[in-house]
Amino acid sequence: MYLFENVRAVTPEGNADWLLTDGARIAQIGLGSPPDLPDARRIDGAGGYLLPAFIDVHVHGGDGADTMDATPEALRRMARFFAAHGVASFLATTITASGEALSRALRNVAECLGAQPDGATLLGVHLEGPYINAKARGAQPADAVRLADPAEYDEWLALDVIRQVTVAPEFAENRAFMRACAQRGIVVSIGHTQASYEQALEAVQCGARQVTHTYNAMTGLHHRAPGAVGAALTCDALICELIADNLHVHAAAMALLLRAKGAHGVIAITDAIRAAGMSEGESELGGQPVYVRDGKATLADGTLAGSLLTMDAALRNLRAATALSVEALAPLFSQNAARQLGMAQRKGILRAGYDADLVLLDSNLHVQMTLAEGRLIYHAAHEGLARADSVG
Ligand SMILES: [Zn+2]
Repeated sequence: MYLFENVRAVTPEGNADWLLTDGARIAQIGLGSPPDLPDARRIDGAGGYLLPAFIDVHVHGGDGADTMDATPEALRRMARFFAAHGVASFLATTITASGEALSRALRNVAECLGAQPDGATLLGVHLEGPYINAKARGAQPADAVRLADPAEYDEWLALDVIRQVTVAPEFAENRAFMRACAQRGIVVSIGHTQASYEQALEAVQCGARQVTHTYNAMTGLHHRAPGAVGAALTCDALICELIADNLHVHAAAMALLLRAKGAHGVIAITDAIRAAGMSEGESELGGQPVYVRDGKATLADGTLAGSLLTMDAALRNLRAATALSVEALAPLFSQNAARQLGMAQRKGILRAGYDADLVLLDSNLHVQMTLAEGRLIYHAAHEGLARADSVG
């Protein structure tokens, strides 16, 4: 049992002063003085924020490891790194690659699903590509981009490990894949796409309900051709991912997205790669060399290659960009993803009976502690802030 006191515990009903866990669940939340429980481990939050721990549904890697490494060690390493940045659960995200490489990565995640030692919980895979538009590939390797083919993807779906897919909906073959995914309850997200506004809306009829890194690698907003961005901004059926690193999207465009969608229409993601948390220099993404300089990861031609972002830094950036409160921004970091993933009855908000997925932040929004289903997976006082904040 953990008793968090002297905190601003952010709940949908307003802020509370203390929160008590019992095993893997939240037991009680309250105002005023906490109960006197001799058995509970008391945590003094020093007036900081207690939020539902972050859920990152779009993250390729971190701390030198990548989903495509397809080893249990890589996933463990990632999970520990994410925990230090407030994340209690994540989707290991793949990149466009050969069928063999993707099958390996998917099977590896299937074998490692669930709680990682001293790390965040692995919820499944976000399959980003290979069924995208090569003309909007971003940093996805062009040579492996292809149309969806059931001869390939039926086997992947049978593994029952994919929770989200990023697809370009402007191809009929891909729309068949989207329908197959939607039928299985997989979150279908449109991205790396040249879809027009009209095609993006048609995608909703094929099961799309999310937009992958909104603004990036898609048709932009023109007032006579509103593009995929126009559909993202105006269609309530689409929830919008956002990379809030101040590099992928201008602060004003982030603020615009929040105004158009509201706090329940946006999901903060990192899209981080293995270089996140590492010293600058050369790295790798999808078999391509990546160069990391001045907090920016790019391919040789200057294309942004994922990010070095962490979820806590995204919260700090979004607060600065939008002037919204931490309370108002909280749903972007947990609740909206939980709802999309069908886990809204267990995760995403602070409420008695919900999973004890918690992040304690100081008033500057630096992570002090992370719990995943009641397990202590990060404690700054134990591990030192220097490392946790190295990429903040
Ligand atoms: Zn992408």
